[in-house]
Amino acid sequence: MKISHDMHTHTVYSGKHHAKNTIEEMVQEARRQGMKAITISDHGHSHPFYGINEKKLPEMRAEVDRLNQKYDDIDVYLAVEANLIGSDGTIDIGEEELKYCDAIYAGYHYGFTPNSLKNFFTFMLPNAPARFIPALQDKLLESNTQAYLKMMDRYPVKMITHPGDKMPIDIDQVAKKAAEKGIILEINAHHDHLSAKELEKAGKYDVKFAVNSDAHQINHLGRTGNALESIKKSGIDPSRVINVTYEENDF
Ligand SMILES: [Zn+2]
Ligand SMILES: [Zn+2]
Repeated sequence: MKISHDMHTHTVYSGKHHAKNTIEEMVQEARRQGMKAITISDHGHSHPFYGINEKKLPEMRAEVDRLNQKYDDIDVYLAVEANLIGSDGTIDIGEEELKYCDAIYAGYHYGFTPNSLKNFFTFMLPNAPARFIPALQDKLLESNTQAYLKMMDRYPVKMITHPGDKMPIDIDQVAKKAAEKGIILEINAHHDHLSAKELEKAGKYDVKFAVNSDAHQINHLGRTGNALESIKKSGIDPSRVINVTYEENDF
């Protein structure tokens, strides 16, 4: 299996400590691998450690446009991987992102800046230790799930990145809503979510999937990790994964 359009990649605009390569270096690596397209999707601005500086968006847009002019064998797109920052479904997207980006993604990340004190205590703080405390997971499952559902109602999101990673959610409800809204669910090679089990659940709804590397450097671009195994184990129709090509011995 090969990724033909890596839809989730990071560059130095997420901070030089967080990601290693420039947009053009990522594009050149994608071309080397024979990809048809790449989307640059750095982190939403509100994250204190690796959020983009939204004032740089015009510069990022200009660079993406320049590279589309320069290379006619690949399409380059610009997105932002926004942070879910409130249990009311708020993500850190403003007019700037909507104006300059081709697509908006949304995902949950630790360490984001919550949009209220209440969300600090009910949404940010408890989700970090929850993976070690099953009782806390049960408690958070419903409110986390509601946050995703509200977010999908409120924003024109194209894809949810690594659903189920870092916080417990009810995949059934999320996939059902994603199907209604035409939102892609990611099989993230780096974080291993959706997992095979999650994929099996999500597969019951009419939703599309994408395998992405979430590369933070050129060496990781195009990586698929356990994605093929998960797809096979889950029993979903492989053609529902929209951005890959399969090889003869994959199945
Ligand atoms: Zn992410
Ligand atoms: Zn990412």
